[in-house]
Amino acid sequence: MRTGHHQLREPFSVSFEFFPPKAPEMETQLWETVEALRVWNPDFVSVTYGAGGSTKAPTLATVRRLIEETPLVTAAHLTCVDASREEVQAVVAEYKTLGVRHIVALRGDPASGVGTSYVPHPDGFGDTAELVAGLRALGDFDISVSAYPEKHPESHNMDADIDTLKRKADAGAARALTQFFFDNDIFERYLDKVRAAGITIPIVPGIMPIQNLTQLKRFASRCGASVPAFLDARFADYEDRPAERAQVAADVAAEQMDDLRRRGVDDFHIYTMNRAPLVGAVLERLGRSRRRAQSGAAA
Ligand code: FAD
Repeated sequence: MRTGHHQLREPFSVSFEFFPPKAPEMETQLWETVEALRVWNPDFVSVTYGAGGSTKAPTLATVRRLIEETPLVTAAHLTCVDASREEVQAVVAEYKTLGVRHIVALRGDPASGVGTSYVPHPDGFGDTAELVAGLRALGDFDISVSAYPEKHPESHNMDADIDTLKRKADAGAARALTQFFFDNDIFERYLDKVRAAGITIPIVPGIMPIQNLTQLKRFASRCGASVPAFLDARFADYEDRPAERAQVAADVAAEQMDDLRRRGVDDFHIYTMNRAPLVGAVLERLGRSRRRAQSGAAA
Protein backbone atom coordinates (compact mmCIF):
# COMPACT_ATOMS: atom_id res chain seq x y z
CA MET A 1 0.00 0.00 0.00
CA ARG A 2 1.27 3.44 -0.82
CA THR A 3 -0.03 5.82 1.76
CA GLY A 4 -0.85 9.32 0.65
CA HIS A 5 2.50 10.25 -0.87
CA HIS A 6 0.62 12.34 -3.42
CA GLN A 7 -0.44 14.76 -0.68
CA LEU A 8 3.10 15.94 0.06
CA ARG A 9 4.60 17.27 -3.14
CA GLU A 10 6.90 19.95 -1.80
CA PRO A 11 10.56 19.11 -2.08
CA PHE A 12 12.50 17.38 0.64
CA SER A 13 16.24 16.88 0.68
CA VAL A 14 18.18 13.66 0.76
CA SER A 15 21.78 12.63 1.26
CA PHE A 16 23.22 9.23 0.42
CA GLU A 17 25.79 7.32 2.43
CA PHE A 18 28.25 4.99 0.70
CA PHE A 19 31.07 2.85 2.01
CA PRO A 20 34.43 2.48 0.26
CA PRO A 21 34.63 -0.75 -1.76
CA LYS A 22 36.69 -3.53 -0.22
CA ALA A 23 37.12 -5.63 -3.39
CA PRO A 24 37.20 -4.98 -7.18
CA GLU A 25 33.67 -6.29 -7.83
CA MET A 26 32.37 -4.02 -5.07
CA GLU A 27 34.11 -1.14 -6.79
CA THR A 28 32.00 -1.69 -9.92
CA GLN A 29 28.86 -1.93 -7.81
CA LEU A 30 29.60 1.34 -6.04
CA TRP A 31 30.13 3.32 -9.24
CA GLU A 32 27.02 1.86 -10.85
CA THR A 33 25.14 2.85 -7.71
CA VAL A 34 26.53 6.39 -7.74
CA GLU A 35 25.61 6.76 -11.41
CA ALA A 36 22.08 5.45 -10.80
CA LEU A 37 21.43 7.61 -7.72
CA ARG A 38 22.78 10.86 -9.14
CA VAL A 39 19.46 11.53 -10.82
CA TRP A 40 17.79 11.99 -7.43
CA ASN A 41 19.77 15.16 -6.71
CA PRO A 42 21.12 14.50 -3.26
CA ASP A 43 22.20 17.55 -1.25
CA PHE A 44 25.37 15.61 -0.60
CA VAL A 45 26.75 12.09 -0.59
CA SER A 46 29.02 10.77 2.13
CA VAL A 47 31.76 8.15 2.28
CA THR A 48 32.37 6.23 5.49
CA TYR A 49 35.75 5.86 7.15
CA GLY A 50 36.87 2.37 8.10
CA ALA A 51 37.02 0.94 11.59
CA GLY A 52 40.17 1.96 13.44
CA GLY A 53 41.32 3.95 10.41
CA SER A 54 41.83 0.65 8.57
CA THR A 55 40.37 1.83 5.29
CA LYS A 56 41.80 5.32 5.12
CA ALA A 57 43.18 4.73 1.60
CA PRO A 58 39.92 3.37 0.11
CA THR A 59 37.99 6.26 1.69
CA LEU A 60 40.39 8.80 0.20
CA ALA A 61 40.30 7.10 -3.22
CA THR A 62 36.49 7.01 -3.23
CA VAL A 63 36.18 10.63 -2.13
CA ARG A 64 38.72 11.69 -4.78
CA ARG A 65 36.84 9.92 -7.56
CA LEU A 66 33.47 11.34 -6.48
CA ILE A 67 34.89 14.86 -6.48
CA GLU A 68 36.82 14.49 -9.74
CA GLU A 69 34.27 12.55 -11.77
CA THR A 70 30.87 13.67 -10.52
CA PRO A 71 29.22 16.99 -9.66
CA LEU A 72 28.06 15.56 -6.32
CA VAL A 73 28.86 17.45 -3.13
CA THR A 74 30.94 14.90 -1.25
CA ALA A 75 31.25 14.66 2.51
CA ALA A 76 34.04 12.55 3.99
CA HIS A 77 33.60 10.70 7.27
CA LEU A 78 36.49 10.83 9.73
CA THR A 79 37.05 9.03 13.03
CA CYS A 80 39.55 9.83 15.76
CA VAL A 81 39.79 6.38 17.34
CA ASP A 82 43.26 4.79 17.49
CA ALA A 83 44.86 7.90 15.96
CA SER A 84 47.04 10.72 17.23
CA ARG A 85 46.05 14.32 16.58
CA GLU A 86 48.84 14.53 14.00
CA GLU A 87 47.49 11.49 12.13
CA VAL A 88 43.97 12.93 12.09
CA GLN A 89 45.30 16.31 10.96
CA ALA A 90 47.20 14.61 8.11
CA VAL A 91 43.97 13.04 6.86
CA VAL A 92 42.20 16.39 7.13
CA ALA A 93 45.01 17.97 5.09
CA GLU A 94 44.47 15.30 2.39
CA TYR A 95 40.71 15.93 2.45
CA LYS A 96 41.37 19.65 2.04
CA THR A 97 43.67 19.05 -0.93
CA LEU A 98 40.94 16.95 -2.56
CA GLY A 99 38.46 19.76 -2.09
CA VAL A 100 36.39 18.26 0.73
CA ARG A 101 34.40 20.94 2.58
CA HIS A 102 32.01 18.74 4.58
CA ILE A 103 33.28 16.29 7.19
CA VAL A 104 31.19 13.78 9.17
CA ALA A 105 33.13 13.73 12.46
CA LEU A 106 32.96 10.58 14.57
CA ARG A 107 34.68 8.90 17.44
CA GLY A 108 34.72 5.46 15.78
CA ASP A 109 35.16 2.03 17.33
CA PRO A 110 38.46 0.48 18.40
CA ALA A 111 39.96 -1.92 15.85
CA SER A 112 39.71 -4.59 18.53
CA GLY A 113 35.97 -4.57 17.96
CA VAL A 114 32.62 -3.02 18.70
CA GLY A 115 31.84 -3.33 22.38
CA THR A 116 35.48 -3.08 23.43
CA SER A 117 35.61 -0.11 25.73
CA TYR A 118 36.94 3.04 24.16
CA VAL A 119 40.28 4.40 25.29
CA PRO A 120 41.41 7.64 23.64
CA HIS A 121 44.77 7.53 21.87
CA PRO A 122 47.38 9.04 24.25
CA ASP A 123 48.12 11.83 21.74
CA GLY A 124 44.64 11.85 20.23
CA PHE A 125 41.38 13.71 20.55
CA GLY A 126 39.69 12.78 23.82
CA ASP A 127 36.23 12.56 22.32
CA THR A 128 34.18 13.61 19.33
CA ALA A 129 33.51 17.12 20.65
CA GLU A 130 37.28 17.67 20.79
CA LEU A 131 37.58 16.38 17.23
CA VAL A 132 34.88 18.81 16.08
CA ALA A 133 36.70 21.69 17.79
CA GLY A 134 39.95 20.52 16.19
CA LEU A 135 38.35 20.51 12.74
CA ARG A 136 37.01 24.00 13.28
CA ALA A 137 40.55 25.14 14.01
CA LEU A 138 41.82 23.52 10.78
CA GLY A 139 39.46 25.06 8.28
CA ASP A 140 36.05 26.31 7.34
CA PHE A 141 34.43 22.87 7.29
CA ASP A 142 30.76 22.05 7.32
CA ILE A 143 30.69 19.47 10.12
CA SER A 144 28.11 16.75 10.69
CA VAL A 145 28.07 14.41 13.68
CA SER A 146 26.12 11.32 14.73
CA ALA A 147 23.03 11.09 16.93
CA TYR A 148 21.37 8.05 18.48
CA PRO A 149 17.56 8.12 18.90
CA GLU A 150 17.76 4.88 20.90
CA LYS A 151 21.04 5.95 22.56
CA HIS A 152 24.49 4.64 21.72
CA PRO A 153 25.09 1.16 23.22
CA GLU A 154 27.92 2.55 25.40
CA SER A 155 25.93 5.46 26.80
CA HIS A 156 24.91 4.95 30.40
CA ASN A 157 21.57 6.58 29.78
CA MET A 158 19.77 8.87 27.36
CA ASP A 159 20.73 12.03 29.30
CA ALA A 160 24.44 11.16 28.96
CA ASP A 161 23.91 10.50 25.28
CA ILE A 162 22.17 13.80 24.70
CA ASP A 163 24.85 15.58 26.70
CA THR A 164 27.44 14.19 24.24
CA LEU A 165 25.38 15.52 21.34
CA LYS A 166 25.13 18.91 23.04
CA ARG A 167 28.89 19.11 23.45
CA LYS A 168 29.36 18.22 19.77
CA ALA A 169 26.87 20.90 18.73
CA ASP A 170 28.46 23.47 21.05
CA ALA A 171 31.86 22.61 19.54
CA GLY A 172 30.55 23.61 16.11
CA ALA A 173 28.70 20.71 14.47
CA ALA A 174 26.17 22.02 11.95
CA ARG A 175 23.86 19.01 11.98
CA ALA A 176 23.53 15.48 13.28
CA LEU A 177 22.76 12.42 11.18
CA THR A 178 21.03 9.70 13.16
CA GLN A 179 21.60 6.01 13.52
CA PHE A 180 18.80 4.22 11.65
CA PHE A 181 15.53 3.51 13.45
CA PHE A 182 12.15 2.16 12.35
CA ASP A 183 9.75 3.56 14.93
CA ASN A 184 9.03 7.22 14.27
CA ASP A 185 7.56 7.72 17.74
CA ILE A 186 11.01 6.93 19.15
CA PHE A 187 12.52 9.58 16.90
CA GLU A 188 9.91 12.17 17.86
CA ARG A 189 10.40 11.57 21.59
CA TYR A 190 14.16 11.78 21.08
CA LEU A 191 13.84 15.05 19.19
CA ASP A 192 11.73 16.51 22.01
CA LYS A 193 14.48 15.65 24.52
CA VAL A 194 17.19 17.06 22.23
CA ARG A 195 15.33 20.35 21.87
CA ALA A 196 14.57 20.46 25.61
CA ALA A 197 18.33 20.16 26.19
CA GLY A 198 18.83 23.35 24.17
CA ILE A 199 20.30 21.67 21.08
CA THR A 200 19.10 23.60 18.04
CA ILE A 201 20.99 22.03 15.11
CA PRO A 202 19.03 19.98 12.56
CA ILE A 203 18.71 16.30 13.50
CA VAL A 204 18.50 14.43 10.21
CA PRO A 205 16.92 10.99 10.43
CA GLY A 206 19.02 8.14 9.04
CA ILE A 207 16.88 5.84 6.90
CA MET A 208 17.89 2.25 6.31
CA PRO A 209 15.90 0.62 3.51
CA ILE A 210 15.83 -3.08 4.42
CA GLN A 211 17.67 -5.18 1.84
CA ASN A 212 17.59 -8.24 4.11
CA LEU A 213 15.74 -8.38 7.43
CA THR A 214 17.82 -11.21 8.95
CA GLN A 215 21.10 -9.44 8.26
CA LEU A 216 19.64 -6.16 9.44
CA LYS A 217 18.68 -7.68 12.81
CA ARG A 218 22.23 -8.90 13.39
CA PHE A 219 23.64 -5.50 12.53
CA ALA A 220 21.00 -3.55 14.47
CA SER A 221 21.65 -5.43 17.71
CA ARG A 222 25.28 -4.28 17.58
CA CYS A 223 24.22 -0.67 16.96
CA GLY A 224 21.60 -0.57 19.72
CA ALA A 225 18.82 -0.02 17.17
CA SER A 226 15.56 -1.87 17.70
CA VAL A 227 13.78 -3.75 14.92
CA PRO A 228 10.05 -3.62 15.70
CA ALA A 229 7.91 -6.75 15.38
CA PHE A 230 5.72 -5.17 12.69
CA LEU A 231 8.65 -5.65 10.30
CA ASP A 232 8.60 -9.42 10.84
CA ALA A 233 4.95 -9.38 9.93
CA ARG A 234 5.51 -7.23 6.84
CA PHE A 235 8.27 -9.47 5.48
CA ALA A 236 6.95 -12.83 6.76
CA ASP A 237 5.64 -14.23 3.51
CA TYR A 238 8.40 -13.04 1.23
CA GLU A 239 11.57 -14.73 2.41
CA ASP A 240 11.92 -16.76 -0.79
CA ARG A 241 10.32 -14.21 -3.10
CA PRO A 242 12.98 -11.55 -3.69
CA ALA A 243 11.01 -9.47 -6.20
CA GLU A 244 8.02 -9.06 -3.88
CA ARG A 245 10.29 -8.64 -0.89
CA ALA A 246 11.92 -5.68 -2.64
CA GLN A 247 8.48 -4.11 -3.13
CA VAL A 248 7.68 -4.50 0.56
CA ALA A 249 11.07 -3.06 1.50
CA ALA A 250 10.44 0.00 -0.67
CA ASP A 251 6.93 0.40 0.78
CA VAL A 252 8.22 0.18 4.35
CA ALA A 253 10.93 2.84 3.92
CA ALA A 254 8.65 5.13 1.88
CA GLU A 255 5.91 4.88 4.52
CA GLN A 256 8.41 5.70 7.25
CA MET A 257 9.69 8.76 5.38
CA ASP A 258 6.18 9.84 4.45
CA ASP A 259 5.14 9.68 8.11
CA LEU A 260 8.25 11.62 9.18
CA ARG A 261 7.42 14.29 6.61
CA ARG A 262 3.96 14.61 8.15
CA ARG A 263 5.74 15.16 11.48
CA GLY A 264 7.72 18.00 9.93
CA VAL A 265 10.92 16.34 8.71
CA ASP A 266 12.35 17.74 5.47
CA ASP A 267 15.84 16.19 5.35
CA PHE A 268 16.79 12.53 5.19
CA HIS A 269 20.12 10.69 5.24
CA ILE A 270 19.79 7.36 3.43
CA TYR A 271 22.05 4.40 4.11
CA THR A 272 22.37 3.03 0.57
CA MET A 273 24.52 -0.02 1.36
CA ASN A 274 26.02 0.81 -2.06
CA ARG A 275 22.87 -0.41 -3.85
CA ALA A 276 20.64 1.76 -5.97
CA PRO A 277 17.43 -0.11 -6.90
CA LEU A 278 15.78 -0.11 -3.47
CA VAL A 279 16.69 3.51 -2.74
CA GLY A 280 15.38 4.53 -6.16
CA ALA A 281 12.13 2.65 -5.57
CA VAL A 282 11.65 4.43 -2.22
CA LEU A 283 12.16 7.89 -3.72
CA GLU A 284 9.87 7.04 -6.62
CA ARG A 285 7.11 6.11 -4.19
CA LEU A 286 7.55 9.47 -2.48
CA GLY A 287 7.00 11.24 -5.80
CA ARG A 288 10.47 12.77 -5.90
CA SER A 289 11.34 14.02 -9.36
CA ARG A 290 14.40 12.80 -11.20
CA ARG A 291 16.75 15.24 -12.81
CA ARG A 292 20.10 14.56 -14.34
CA ALA A 293 22.64 16.76 -12.56
CA GLN A 294 24.70 18.81 -15.00
CA SER A 295 28.28 17.66 -14.97
CA GLY A 296 30.57 20.38 -13.66
CA ALA A 297 27.73 22.91 -13.47
CA ALA A 298 28.59 25.93 -11.36
CA ALA A 299 25.91 28.03 -9.74
P1 FAD B 1 29.98 9.87 20.10
O1 FAD B 1 28.87 10.65 19.53
O2 FAD B 1 31.19 10.58 20.51
O3 FAD B 1 29.47 9.01 21.30
C1 FAD B 1 28.31 8.23 21.13
C2 FAD B 1 27.69 8.00 22.47
O4 FAD B 1 28.44 7.07 23.21
C3 FAD B 1 27.65 9.26 23.24
O5 FAD B 1 26.34 9.68 23.34
C4 FAD B 1 28.28 8.98 24.58
O6 FAD B 1 27.34 9.21 25.59
C5 FAD B 1 28.67 7.56 24.52
N1 FAD B 1 30.07 7.41 24.75
C6 FAD B 1 31.07 7.73 23.93
N2 FAD B 1 32.25 7.42 24.46
C7 FAD B 1 31.97 6.88 25.65
C8 FAD B 1 32.76 6.36 26.70
N3 FAD B 1 34.08 6.33 26.59
N4 FAD B 1 32.13 5.87 27.78
C9 FAD B 1 30.77 5.90 27.88
N5 FAD B 1 29.97 6.40 26.92
C10 FAD B 1 30.56 6.87 25.84
N6 FAD B 1 31.99 4.45 12.28
C11 FAD B 1 33.12 4.36 11.54
O7 FAD B 1 34.07 3.69 11.93
N7 FAD B 1 33.22 5.02 10.34
C12 FAD B 1 32.22 5.78 9.84
O8 FAD B 1 32.35 6.36 8.76
C13 FAD B 1 31.01 5.89 10.61
N8 FAD B 1 29.98 6.66 10.18
C14 FAD B 1 28.86 6.79 10.97
C15 FAD B 1 27.83 7.62 10.52
C16 FAD B 1 26.68 7.79 11.29
C17 FAD B 1 25.59 8.72 10.77
C18 FAD B 1 26.55 7.10 12.53
C19 FAD B 1 25.30 7.25 13.35
C20 FAD B 1 27.58 6.27 12.97
C21 FAD B 1 28.74 6.11 12.21
N9 FAD B 1 29.81 5.30 12.63
C22 FAD B 1 30.94 5.20 11.86
C23 FAD B 1 29.72 4.53 13.90
C24 FAD B 1 30.38 5.24 15.09
O9 FAD B 1 31.75 5.42 14.84
C25 FAD B 1 30.18 4.37 16.32
O10 FAD B 1 28.83 4.32 16.67
C26 FAD B 1 31.02 4.74 17.52
O11 FAD B 1 30.86 3.73 18.52
C27 FAD B 1 30.65 6.05 18.17
O12 FAD B 1 31.13 7.12 17.46
P2 FAD B 1 30.30 8.52 17.57
O13 FAD B 1 31.06 9.59 16.91
O14 FAD B 1 28.93 8.28 17.12
O15 FAD B 1 30.40 8.69 19.14
